[in-house]
Amino acid sequence: MKRRLLNLLTILSLLLCLAVAALWVRSYGGCDVVVRPRGPGDRLCVTSEFGVLVVEWETPPPGLVVRPGWEYFQTPLPRRWPVRRAGLGFDAYRATVTHYVRLPPAPLHGVTVPHWFAALATAGLPAAWLTWRRRAGVMRRRANAGLCASCGYDLRATPGRCPECGTVSGANS
Ligand SMILES: [Zn+2]
Repeated sequence: MKRRLLNLLTILSLLLCLAVAALWVRSYGGCDVVVRPRGPGDRLCVTSEFGVLVVEWETPPPGLVVRPGWEYFQTPLPRRWPVRRAGLGFDAYRATVTHYVRLPPAPLHGVTVPHWFAALATAGLPAAWLTWRRRAGVMRRRANAGLCASCGYDLRATPGRCPECGTVSGANS
C-alpha cells in the first residue's frame, strides 16, 4: 500500500516535471495562462512566462461594490510592470489590477518561481526512485552471483555471513 502510494507520487511528480519542462521551453516565446481568472469571483491567476511561473491573487478591499451592469474585463497579461528580475527568478511583489473602469484598481499580490526550481523540485522523487531501482538491481545480481549483496565480496567460501562487511546474506536478497 505504501509502495503503491510512493509509485503513484513518483509518476505524478514525473508528469509535473515534464509539464514544467514543456512550459519552460514555451515560456520564452510568450505567456501561457495556466489558471485564468474568468469572472469577478476569480482572484487567482497563474501564468508561465520568460522562465518563471507567476502566481497572482487579487485582494479587493472589503465592501467593494460592483454594480449590476458594470462590465468586467480581463486585464492583459502580463499585468505587472516593470518586471523585476530578483534573485534567480524568485520574486514577491505587490501591484494593482483594474477590472472595472469606474472602480479603483484592486490590490494584487504575486509570487514568481523560476521554472528551473520547479523542474528540480519535481525531479527529486523520480530521480530517487531510479537510484533505488538501480541499487536494488545491483544487489539482486550480486546475490544471484553468490556475492555479498551490499559490498560485492565473494561469499562462496563463507555463505551466510559476509566476512568483509558483516552483512548476513539472505537478509538483502
Ligand atoms: Zn559484504
